[in-house]
Amino acid sequence: MTPYWKDKTFCYAPFNQIYFGRDGVVKPCCAATNSFGNYNYSSIENVYNSNSAKRTRQDFLEGNYPKNNCQSCSSFYNQTGSIHNVQMFSNENAYKAMHYSKQVMNADLTDQKPIFVDLLVSNNCNFACLGCESELSSTWAKNYTDIEIQRDLDIRHTNISGEWNNDIDPIIEYILEHADTIQSIHCNGGEPFMQEQYYKLFDVLIDNKIFDIHITSHTNGSVSTYKGKDIVNDYLSKFTNFDITFSHDHFGKRGTYIRYPLVEEKWLKNYKKTVNTQWQMPMAMGSSVMTNLIDTKDGFAWRTKISWLTRNA
Ligand code: SF4
Repeated sequence: MTPYWKDKTFCYAPFNQIYFGRDGVVKPCCAATNSFGNYNYSSIENVYNSNSAKRTRQDFLEGNYPKNNCQSCSSFYNQTGSIHNVQMFSNENAYKAMHYSKQVMNADLTDQKPIFVDLLVSNNCNFACLGCESELSSTWAKNYTDIEIQRDLDIRHTNISGEWNNDIDPIIEYILEHADTIQSIHCNGGEPFMQEQYYKLFDVLIDNKIFDIHITSHTNGSVSTYKGKDIVNDYLSKFTNFDITFSHDHFGKRGTYIRYPLVEEKWLKNYKKTVNTQWQMPMAMGSSVMTNLIDTKDGFAWRTKISWLTRNA
């Protein structure tokens, strides 16, 4: 049999990654089309070793894309002959930690060694960006679901959501139990820095002196403190390795239109402060939505100038 790690279409995510989504859903990654189960009804260990999870892993071990999952990646491969970028990202993570990745090559994972935790804990967010939706923004959920339905008509499946919050306690327990193998935690949002679950997680990691897990996150740049504490100085800078991406689509009125209700001065102030208070540089970047494509060159020039000026101030 060909060693599975040499199969072009093999994916490590169901073996050593874990994704937590809305309302307790557990999947191998954000692109997976089916869940392994829900941690509101069973322990995370059990969910990650559910029949659905075992079937997904068994199919990969036999050299196939799973029949019960992963249609996004298998369709992409069938149509293009290339590996989907989420699958590529998952495999790159696994290559970087191959000593753990090789240890978990069974469909039945009684001994779990997660290396990457992808977290979504709430849709709490003070913005309603043009390309976003109620599932990922409480501002969309509270105010604009009628617009969301109209916007998505005939374009994509609309998944209208109310405000939601996941229980972080079982996730924190799982992370503590596997802190020796976890290399990286992605704190996703909403606006992650408005979400109390993440501060609970950071407090526990700091109290347990677990500083070497790579924390990655992103922000809309509108918040710099939480309950009187400085997000960078009091939380993130405790970790030896963290990255924050400052989302940005455009400057001026166009910027506020795309990422509503962006206040450019506040974004700039928080961006500069973050750059000046830690050694890993956050990156200003645009997410392509149709409204900024027509002006991509100016937006790129603005971001390049701000990045350069801030780093050389
Ligand atoms: S094949 Fe794609 S959808 Fe399936 S686990 Fe890997 S990255 Fe996720």
